[in-house]
Amino acid sequence: MLFRNPGKSISNLVAKRCIACGDICRTKDLEFDCCPECRIELRPLQDGFCPGCGTMYTAPGEGVYLCLECRENPKSWSQIGFFNLYDGMLKDLIIDFKFNSNLGISRLLQRLMHRAYEMHNREFPPDVLVPVPLHPKRLQQRGFNQSREIAKRISDKEKIRMLPRALSRVKDTDSQVGLSREQRKRNLADAIEVNTRELRGEKVLLVDDIYTTGSTIEACADVLNSAGVKRVDVLVLARVTDKIQ
Ligand SMILES: [Zn+2]
Ligand SMILES: [Zn+2]
Repeated sequence: MLFRNPGKSISNLVAKRCIACGDICRTKDLEFDCCPECRIELRPLQDGFCPGCGTMYTAPGEGVYLCLECRENPKSWSQIGFFNLYDGMLKDLIIDFKFNSNLGISRLLQRLMHRAYEMHNREFPPDVLVPVPLHPKRLQQRGFNQSREIAKRISDKEKIRMLPRALSRVKDTDSQVGLSREQRKRNLADAIEVNTRELRGEKVLLVDDIYTTGSTIEACADVLNSAGVKRVDVLVLARVTDKIQ
C-alpha cells in the first residue's frame, strides 16, 4: 500500500526538496522557494558599496555614495545594482547553473535577481531589459544565455519588455582575465553591436549574471549610449570584488 503510487510520492519529494541545498525541508521560504537555512545564506546585500561601480567600502556600515573614482571618471551607466557578492552559496549556484546547465537552479536565481531589482531599480523602472549577449559559438556550446534566463522573472512580474536580441556579440573575445584595462577595452572594441532602433530614447536595464572586470558591461553600455538610449542602468546577480577574490 505504501508504494501504490510511486510517481506521486517522487513528485511530492521533489516539491519538498530545497533547490539550493538539495535537502528535504518541512517548510519553504515563500519568496525564494528554498529552505529557511538557505534563505539566511542567500540574503541580499543592501549597502556598503559604491552605486557607480559596486566596489565594497572597507569600513562596515558605510552608506550609499559614489566612490572617488566614479566621481572623477563617471561610468557609462547611471547605477549598478547586484544581489550580493560572488561568494559562498551564491557563487556555487551560479556555477552549477551556467556550467552544468542546471536549469532547476535558474528558477531560484530568477527570484534572487527579481529581489535585486526590487532593491535597486523598482523606484525608477526601466522601459526595457537587455541581457548581455553571448557570442553565437558560446551560446551554441551552453545552449542558453544565462543573462536572459535570470532576467525572466523581472520581465514577467514587472511587465517590462525584454529584448534578448537587441545586442549581439560579433567578435569572439578571448578570456579577459589577466589583461590590463586598456587591453580589455581594445579587445572589446567593436565586439558588441546594437541590432534595433527600438532602444532610442528608452531607459535600459542591462542585465548579466556576474560583474568581474566590468569591461564587457562597459562595452555594452557604450554602444547603447551611442544608439541614443535615454539612460542605462546595470543589474547583475553577483559582484566579484578584489576583497574576496
Ligand atoms: Zn536549502
Ligand atoms: Zn565607484
